Amino acid sequence: MKQAINRIWNPEMECMDIDVRREMQSQKLRETVKRVYDNVEMYRSRMIDAGITPDDIKTVDDLSKLPFTDKPDLRDQFPYGLFASPRKDIVRIQGSSGTTGMPIVSGYTQQDIDDWTEMVTRSVAAAGGSDEDIVQVTYGYGLFTGGLGLHQGASNVGAMVVPMSSGNTVRQINMMKGLGVTMIGCTPSYALHIGETIREMGLDIKDFKLKAGIFGAEPWSDNIRNRIEDLLQIDALDIYGLTEICGPGVSFECLEKVGMHVNEDFVIPEIIDPDTLQPLPYGELGELVFSTIGKQGMPMLRYRTHDLCRLHPEKCACGRTTVRMERIIGRTDDMLIIRGVNVFPSQVETVLTNIRGVSPHFLMVVDREGSTDRLEIQVEVTEEMMGDTISAMQVLQKEIGEKVKSTLGVAARIKLVDPKTIPRFEGKARRVTDNRIL
Ligand code: ADP
Ligand code: ZN
Repeated sequence: MKQAINRIWNPEMECMDIDVRREMQSQKLRETVKRVYDNVEMYRSRMIDAGITPDDIKTVDDLSKLPFTDKPDLRDQFPYGLFASPRKDIVRIQGSSGTTGMPIVSGYTQQDIDDWTEMVTRSVAAAGGSDEDIVQVTYGYGLFTGGLGLHQGASNVGAMVVPMSSGNTVRQINMMKGLGVTMIGCTPSYALHIGETIREMGLDIKDFKLKAGIFGAEPWSDNIRNRIEDLLQIDALDIYGLTEICGPGVSFECLEKVGMHVNEDFVIPEIIDPDTLQPLPYGELGELVFSTIGKQGMPMLRYRTHDLCRLHPEKCACGRTTVRMERIIGRTDDMLIIRGVNVFPSQVETVLTNIRGVSPHFLMVVDREGSTDRLEIQVEVTEEMMGDTISAMQVLQKEIGEKVKSTLGVAARIKLVDPKTIPRFEGKARRVTDNRIL
């Protein structure tokens, strides 16, 4: 395996003394609050309603005085209501992939694009990227921020960029091999699919030059990481972001693989209790909230991501001093409530990746019979398992059923299905079909 080495793109910012950083954040927060108060009607009227003026926000500690923003605000203010810069200064529009069904757009000034590029560049460098590298961008290009976001970051380290966009797996693989691609970026579910397809094509991964991958845009687990690393013989790193804040690069993993470093000179993260909306201390599980500092086109204050995770402030062995985000457990809005129990697709993935004989591809189907919720989990068995006896299948089914019940806290009907019958996704995977009419 080619060795990826830790590079710190911007040591001055990434390894800054935390007190100095806090000072800087407070300064940039004051500027942002003033900017939105002066330029965005929604923020001004909400602050007036809350009885505060920009003078009340002096340091990061005053953040909790500010009202929250949420996805419906972007929809209500569509298209330009949240812009804090004149239209002529906006040089780019990006849009959400619409996972939750509401189209929204974000506007960027040239400075915003440069800052976003800096954020992703740090991620590429943290994965060992430099001008020696060939980076294949397999995230979709277009309004979705994944493709252009990684493209900008990889270009900025001086790498040779292969702008493949998503789709056509065999062509992706042929390019990767032919060009001697060293780094790849896509969703983790698609990385897994690429790895499996390489095997199916009878190719030897030793003939590829891959060393690292930057995977994000959907939740994944350490077990999936291990599989991808094994299939592709790379270091597989996580990257997080959302359109409303800028896109990928809000946080990124370093080679220590102990959570994603938040680019705290551009955003301030908070964790809140999603029910009481009160801020929670570091280490506790809750909903992530971001405030942008320095963003001009469409600043966001206390934006509720609906992503659940924990923050850890301890210094990382890589040398960076920025706060780290644990893996996202899921979104509050992809949480299923089944017979009163909160269930996340990521929990099912964890169960399946710890069982031999099944693939990590699954579909959760929820129905309501009378007044009772019924959960079925369709699980793909591996090719090897297909040759096995019926009783071996029954044992497997029972094992999955028991582990699901103990991990999720609800029973599910397990349906074993043939290899490659569950749909694969080039972008974000969709693992739930909810047929309940509530
Ligand atoms: P949409 O809301 O339409 O999916 P985006 O394309 O902006 O819009 O996706 C942002 C969301 O994608 C995040 O809020 C989060 O739920 C998910 N996401 C992005 N990166 C990661 C990651 N590394 N791990 C888990 N979830 C992620
Ligand atoms: Zn680190």
